[in-house]
Amino acid sequence: MELFILGVESPYPRRGRATLGYTLMQEGFLLVLETGFGIHRRLAEEGLLDRVEGILLSHLHCDHSADLPAVILGVTVGRGRKEPLPVYLPPGEVARLREWLCACGFAFVLEHTDLRELAYDEPTAIGPFRVTMGRAAHSLPAGIFTFTAAGTKFVYTGDTGDCPPLRAAIPGADLLLAEATPLRPEEAAVKGHLTAPALGEMARAAGVRRLVITHFMPGEEPAALAEKATVAFGAPVTAAEEGLHLVI
Ligand SMILES: [Zn+2]
Repeated sequence: MELFILGVESPYPRRGRATLGYTLMQEGFLLVLETGFGIHRRLAEEGLLDRVEGILLSHLHCDHSADLPAVILGVTVGRGRKEPLPVYLPPGEVARLREWLCACGFAFVLEHTDLRELAYDEPTAIGPFRVTMGRAAHSLPAGIFTFTAAGTKFVYTGDTGDCPPLRAAIPGADLLLAEATPLRPEEAAVKGHLTAPALGEMARAAGVRRLVITHFMPGEEPAALAEKATVAFGAPVTAAEEGLHLVI
């Protein structure tokens, strides 16, 4: 499994940067995780638009989804792909996405899209991946995703506070890509996010092999957050950055 980092910022991109977006590849199958602000540009820059086989969104907050219409059109109309592009969403979010596109005069994007809702705790095959979505603790319907393929386990948290589905998903993960939004613990609990120390402790207790943090807010220093997480995790934690390529 190969993870490539397209964007890491939230809730808006700084100059020349993107918000959330990643690609996950296995056996030549490329799945885009999140399409935040700037992710269409990043996919084009990396020469990846021809290779996209599907998109998975953890939830519909704009830092994770704003470029979705652009990516769908860029991959289909822009690159001559005839088949609609599969887009995977948490339960109930297909209706919300349709409303959004129609309200903005972008209903035609739906002709190029195959919208699919995942069900919580029901494993689904997406290309070579077995994907299980847990229910995240966040302010919109949101998923925590476990991907397995060829004996490897990768977990991506999306945005979530501490919750039983998160603790159930991460044990033994070969790599955990998790948000570490630098809020005070009480604020994190209310808003549905994780702090770097809490995440590090949780990952250590769960036997996670490698921890990568993401979802960096304005004014925060990713390296400082990674250091906080490292202390709690007991092993070096990586701060995600654009262009980082990780073999899991
Ligand atoms: Zn977010």
